[in-house]
Amino acid sequence: MKRQDDPDIIGGVEAGGTKFNCVLANSPEHILERATIATTTPRQTLDAVIEFFRAGEQRHGRMKALGIASFGPVELDPETLTFGHIAQTPKAHWSHVPIAPRLREALRVPVAFETDVNGAALGEQRGGAAAGLTDFVYVTVGTGIGAGLVSAGRLVYGVSHPEIGHMLLARHPDDDYAGHCSFHGHCLEGLASGPALQERWGRSTQDLPEDHPAWQFQAHYLSAMCHNLTCLSAPQRIILGGGVMLNRSHLYDLTRLRLVQTAGGYFPWITQDTVSRYIVAPAHQGRSGEIGSLILAQRLLAAGGADCGPGK
Ligand code: ZN
Repeated sequence: MKRQDDPDIIGGVEAGGTKFNCVLANSPEHILERATIATTTPRQTLDAVIEFFRAGEQRHGRMKALGIASFGPVELDPETLTFGHIAQTPKAHWSHVPIAPRLREALRVPVAFETDVNGAALGEQRGGAAAGLTDFVYVTVGTGIGAGLVSAGRLVYGVSHPEIGHMLLARHPDDDYAGHCSFHGHCLEGLASGPALQERWGRSTQDLPEDHPAWQFQAHYLSAMCHNLTCLSAPQRIILGGGVMLNRSHLYDLTRLRLVQTAGGYFPWITQDTVSRYIVAPAHQGRSGEIGSLILAQRLLAAGGADCGPGK
């Protein structure tokens, strides 16, 4: 039986292209239950997510708010009828799937909805690699490439969320790969995401040894991205996360080295001595998105519990 002074129950979903991480919690620091559900078809995956939360509520009590940090592109404007839907995506079966409405209706809970990378940025701001920072970028390099950009303490939005993974960059001079993006071919994601590397080199990034030329190419593209992000928003720090970066300390070093070269001494905070504090790995390795989704739920609860998107 739930007592009046028991802590609130909140839920979080980090919806990724390969898996959904679901958590039931009192706070990001106090997780009650978690589950990892494979991203297959929308019906199968969302049914399993709903089942996880229903079973957890049986044991811990009713959930008061649910935060969802989703792969995208997504519709974030709460004034639209398609709020909380995935937009047109190259991921098979998932275009126009109403993730947030489906979970809200099935679980009868107020829902906060964000991009996965914005969620991860919030997560890293909570005691992680962006603790105490007001201007930073969280980039994920995995199935896709995306970024949560925080400027003057706020997540940046325009007409939609930024799409840093689809920026165009100068090619590595030896690179003749056509690119993997179904929209742009050789955009950043088309050249440097996990599937692009897999297609180009014929094996998983986890199987590419440290001395493989793939990493020089990868450092070229990631440092160019960091260079452009520096020019664009002058962040205090850039956090590089995602499956391609995981446990690849040499790739961080190659990217930093290349960034110092391209920066050419123009930015006083990008030097050989300082770059290792400028380009960093996530501190909550593997948990940034989960923590962020729970922060979204906490914020929704604090705001009174109505459904919300960014800045509401
Ligand atoms: Zn693209």
